[in-house]
Amino acid sequence: MRHVSQVDVAPTIAHMLGISIHGPDGRPIEEAQGWRCQNAVLAIVDSLGCDLYKWLEPELKNISVLAKHGLVLRAKAVSNHTSPAIASILSGLLPEHHGIYDTESAKRSPILSLPEITSSAGMRSAVVMEKGGAEIYEGLIEFIGAVPRTLSPLEFDQEICRLSLEALSSKPRLLVSYFIGIDKAAHNGLTSDGFKEAAMAIDHCLGEIADAVQPGTMMVVVGDHPIHAGLLKRTHDPYCVALIIGRKIQTSNVSIEP
Ligand SMILES: [Zn+2]
Repeated sequence: MRHVSQVDVAPTIAHMLGISIHGPDGRPIEEAQGWRCQNAVLAIVDSLGCDLYKWLEPELKNISVLAKHGLVLRAKAVSNHTSPAIASILSGLLPEHHGIYDTESAKRSPILSLPEITSSAGMRSAVVMEKGGAEIYEGLIEFIGAVPRTLSPLEFDQEICRLSLEALSSKPRLLVSYFIGIDKAAHNGLTSDGFKEAAMAIDHCLGEIADAVQPGTMMVVVGDHPIHAGLLKRTHDPYCVALIIGRKIQTSNVSIEP
């Protein structure tokens, strides 16, 4: 794994889509710059820290396919909280520059994030996430999938999956999907089997998404922060999350060209 930051995710996707983000703190990841992709799927997986990813990797069949033929990077975590981290992933800005710390400040923020910038550039953009976060995009992008937090973690991620596949049927240039199950497993005090079950459900969904996307789609999987509880909780620097970038070049296969 190589060191990059979560703020490099949005500039990397923007560069690929041929759009620009105003004054980002991050920069496009060099290894992915020459990829000839037209579309992007960004899956934000809550709590997918580096340590947890390494431990889970043997179970994650579909993410491993992306990783094997793509890039696996250690991305510096910019925050230990979900909202500021997701705002950084989607804006390319550090928390001190975007000033988003919860859903309410996200609603008030004038900062444009990748889905809005994509849509403003005339490209279809879709966001599938929990209801409070999704509502921020109302009237700004082409497809919004809003999932209530009242669902159980497994049901929540299944609904994220269903709506992501629905979004893909309208062929967006950008889809952002947010999965919550691993974080909930940690906060609910589940054992290692609980983590694995949540992670495998997300991995299964990412396989379905990989099958559904168009050839020429960049697929990015990134954590928002290291896990908050359990055996693999991180208590010291460096705080990092897993960042996996692959691309689909054939209809039934996700890989990178040699
Ligand atoms: Zn989180």
